[in-house]
Amino acid sequence: MPIAKAYSATSPTSGLHAATIERREPNANDVEIEILYCGICHSDLHQARDEWKDFMPTTYPCVPGHEIVGRVTRVGTAVSRLKVGDIAAVGCMVGSCGDCDACKAEDEVYCSKGATFTYNSPESDPGPVTLGGYSQSIVVQERFAFQVPEGLDPAGAAPLLCAGITTYSPMRHWGVKKGQKVGVVGLGGLGHMGVKFAVALGAEVVLFTTSPNKIEDAKRLGASHVVVTKDPDQMKPHAWSFDFILDTVSAEHDINPYLGLLKRNGTLVLVGVPEKPLPVSSFQLILGRKQIAGSLIGGTAETQEMLDFCGRHGITSDIELIPIQKINEAFDRLSKSDVKYRFVIDMASLNQD
Ligand code: NAP
Ligand code: ZN
Repeated sequence: MPIAKAYSATSPTSGLHAATIERREPNANDVEIEILYCGICHSDLHQARDEWKDFMPTTYPCVPGHEIVGRVTRVGTAVSRLKVGDIAAVGCMVGSCGDCDACKAEDEVYCSKGATFTYNSPESDPGPVTLGGYSQSIVVQERFAFQVPEGLDPAGAAPLLCAGITTYSPMRHWGVKKGQKVGVVGLGGLGHMGVKFAVALGAEVVLFTTSPNKIEDAKRLGASHVVVTKDPDQMKPHAWSFDFILDTVSAEHDINPYLGLLKRNGTLVLVGVPEKPLPVSSFQLILGRKQIAGSLIGGTAETQEMLDFCGRHGITSDIELIPIQKINEAFDRLSKSDVKYRFVIDMASLNQD
């Protein structure tokens, strides 16, 4: 079996270290991809540190990484969309049952049998769990590999595979459009993509942040107003004014003030996944028939649609490119909301170990 260099965590507190892993030989429907760039999602940090132990415990060794862009190096005999040499991308999923309603609708992330995620999902080939993109190569079914539009910088495109689709999908599902007022909570990897998409879809966008030093960037990205949430006076003028708010916050926080900012029938969508459940005030929901919802990544059809949308609109992520040897420093900065606005690993650096 092919061997690949990788970085893995061996316990919640080990940090990430150089390792080698096995990849399978490509089957008929598989593509093998040499990974050029991999984004660092806050989910990688949650999972490597076992912060979701009650819901998605981590199997160690854990190789995170699900924002993958690379070059196709081998294809199986049944592969038709991709060929050797293509720039291709892999996101958060690498398998699903293929038969249920969600899979038939190419919304595989909601597979009734549970999608196979790119890392930490049970897997027998080679197993015991899937290993992600902090590695030299990956082998996936063609269905879960995407074409990256020409003209998009491959490093800046990598975060589209999670931060991009996770913010694009709910905006499409809830029909964000021109004439609407949209809030984005948190200016991190997901949040900055959320601002870009809401602006590109024509909405008026307000960014909610705990970091006053991000105000100028949020405006540059297209937000018309920025609210520093530590100051309640800045929240008040926006009461009852939003059609849609996307909450991307990775840590415990009070979501009830955001419900108060929604219009009648407005929707607050949670995409952030804090370690602990968040309390909700019934009053904030019933006064105004407001809705609170969640959204998980996106399916394959919508992911390719999102990439093509980015190709047409020239949208990529704002990134800090790092060698993999700086991964633990990057995790520490990410845990302090100190990244502008996505770390991406230059995988060529793996050769320096
Ligand atoms: P990130 O880059 O670290 O951004 C999170 C942002 O949340 C921070 O930049 C910060 O923004 C804000 N924040 C952090 N701590 C806060 C606190 N205590 N109170 C209020 N705001 C706080 O993380 P990310 O990669 O965008 O991921 C965000 C969350 O989404 C994570 O929990 C991740 O696991 C989850 N996620 C979910 C999906 C899905 O499918 N639903 C997919 C990917 C990721 P400011 O500095 O602007 O306040
Ligand atoms: Zn992610």
